[in-house]
Order: sequence, then C-alpha cells, then structure tokens
Amino acid sequence: MKAYQITAWGEPLEERVIETPVPEGTQVLLRVTASGVCHSDIHLWDGYFDMGGDVKMRLEDRGMTLPFTMGHEVLGEVVALGPDASGVEVGDKRIYFPWIGCGECDVCQRGDELLCLAPRTPGTRYAGGYAEYCLAQHSKYLVPFEGVEETHAATCACSGVTAYSALKKLKHLRPEEHLMIIGAGGVGLAGIGMAKAVVDAKLVVADIDPAKRAAALAAGADMVIDNSDGDAVKELMASTGGGVHGVIDFVGAPASTGFAMQTIARGGTIVVVGLFGGAVQLPLATLPLKMMSIIGSYVGNLDEMHELMALVTAGKVKPVPITPRPLREAAQAIADLRDGKALGRYVLTN
Ligand SMILES: [Zn+2]
Ligand SMILES: [Zn+2]
Repeated sequence: MKAYQITAWGEPLEERVIETPVPEGTQVLLRVTASGVCHSDIHLWDGYFDMGGDVKMRLEDRGMTLPFTMGHEVLGEVVALGPDASGVEVGDKRIYFPWIGCGECDVCQRGDELLCLAPRTPGTRYAGGYAEYCLAQHSKYLVPFEGVEETHAATCACSGVTAYSALKKLKHLRPEEHLMIIGAGGVGLAGIGMAKAVVDAKLVVADIDPAKRAAALAAGADMVIDNSDGDAVKELMASTGGGVHGVIDFVGAPASTGFAMQTIARGGTIVVVGLFGGAVQLPLATLPLKMMSIIGSYVGNLDEMHELMALVTAGKVKPVPITPRPLREAAQAIADLRDGKALGRYVLTN
C-alpha cells in the first residue's frame, strides 16, 4: 500500500510503498477513505513540542521512530478482521476512535484510556491514516456515523471530540454568563459549531485574524473580538460586565492564555486546549483572589465520542468548513496547513 510518511523531521512527507498490514488478534483492518490533517500533526512532523523556556519535548525521547505514518482522524471501510475480532463486518464504515490506551490497566478499565501510560494512538504512536490502509486495535474503538458526511465524521475523532470534551468542562455556565472561545482555527470552529448544544451561555470568540472572526460569526458566535487590539481587554471587561466566566483557549500560546487570564471573571475557569506552546507568567495571588481555575483538556474519551456522535447525527453540530484533498496530496496539505492557508480543515480522501 501507499503511505505518506515522515522520513526526516520537518522535511516533506514521502510517498512510500510499504506492506499492507495484516490484522492479528482483535485487530481490524480499515481501507482509509477519509483522514483529517490536524494542526498537531505539524508538531509531530517537527519531532518536538515546545514546552516553553527553550525546553523541547522530543518525540524520539518517547520512542517515536522514523519512517512514521501520521493521521489520527481516520475513517474507513472494514476490509479484514483478525481471528479474535468481532463486532463489525467487512464492508462496515466506521470512524476509528484514536485516543486509546493499553486497554488493560486500571485507568483503561474505567474508561479513561487517555490517562494510560501505554497509549496506542494511531498517527502519534502507531501507524495512522495518511495511508491507504490502517490497523484498528479493536472493534470497540470503531464508531458508527450514520447519515454524517465522511469528511466531517473523520474530524470528529480529534477536533470534534477535543472541542466537545473542553465544552463539557464548562457545562455549568449559565445563560446570562459568557463563554469565550479563543482561536477560530480548525478545532476552534468545531467548538463554536457545537457550543450552544453543550453550554447554555453567551458565546464570545476572540481571534486576531479578521477572516476567522467572520467565520466565527457565521458559525454561531454572539460576538467577536480582536484579542491583539490594545483596547480588547478593556472593551471585553465592559461589554461582559466584569469578564467572561469560562474560556476555552484553543491556541495555547502565551498571548492567548494571557488574554484569558486578563479577562476571566471572578470564579471563572480557563480551559487550555491548544498546544502552540510557550509559557506564561502566573501571578499566584490571582488564583485565590480571583478564585480562578486553570485546567487542561486533551482530546476526549470514548464515551464522549459516542455522546458527540449522538449530537452530530441529531444535526445539532454545525460542520466545520472542510476542504477535501486527495490522499496523494498529503505532503502538500500539511505544508499548506503550516503556512496558514487552511480555513477550516483539510481532509485527505481516497
Ligand atoms: Zn488532532
Ligand atoms: Zn492502559
């Protein structure tokens, strides 16, 4: 099969012909028909995450070796089952839920596979969906998407469930309070498109790019703000009557989280999702004085994926703008994403 692989960190992906995997045990082989190109793939491609203060977390240090096939938003058709696999049949189309652990330890048993110390995520640990075929570890991770456009369904596995899980952490907000989403890129737009279905609050979207602010308004934001504007903090504090009660920072950069810390209301919660990287200075006294919480949210679990797909199939989630691109353009697609050319999401189709 053809796979589009990292062969050198940060260098263009290479089209390589490799052996099509054969499912063993409970594994299921999918012929990939849609595969989302995620912003986090850029970090994987570079080979490190920026932890701030010139500290880099290198993927080689956590066992990632090249060549490597990225792609964790995988959707495809079942073409073969391992000898112990059941629950799906050849010909079924499924989303491969990627955030899986060993399946056996304590956290995996209670459904928090995200916390497992032995993750088996396709596209970050195991071979992923930038290829013609992808191995799923077990049919329990294969999620139906009846009636949903394939390219949209594929993105639900990462940007969709990431946005949903972050929003759920602010479910307690009330209709007279404000929820602010920072960053209307791929994941941010997914969050904006489902915010009203999960959190009953007024929705403010902050982005430095006027085109993305326009996209946010079209996707359902009640108001938008340019957080790079020198008066933005003052204006937002005035228009919200003392700040926003919940923030989801889909950027995760010093400027965006800094903006959240300046505009959060007393008792508010900041959920950091974005992996842009860097570090912020946190005046510790603001934590007790503002009774503020800063928490992190990373993708979502399998239960949340099923909850999300129930909302999606019920038509309660506005699909993000998607640009399908043929699988063979994988290298160009991720390069274009890095160059900031994508509004919404690229999905590789085959
Ligand atoms: Zn992703
Ligand atoms: Zn585990």
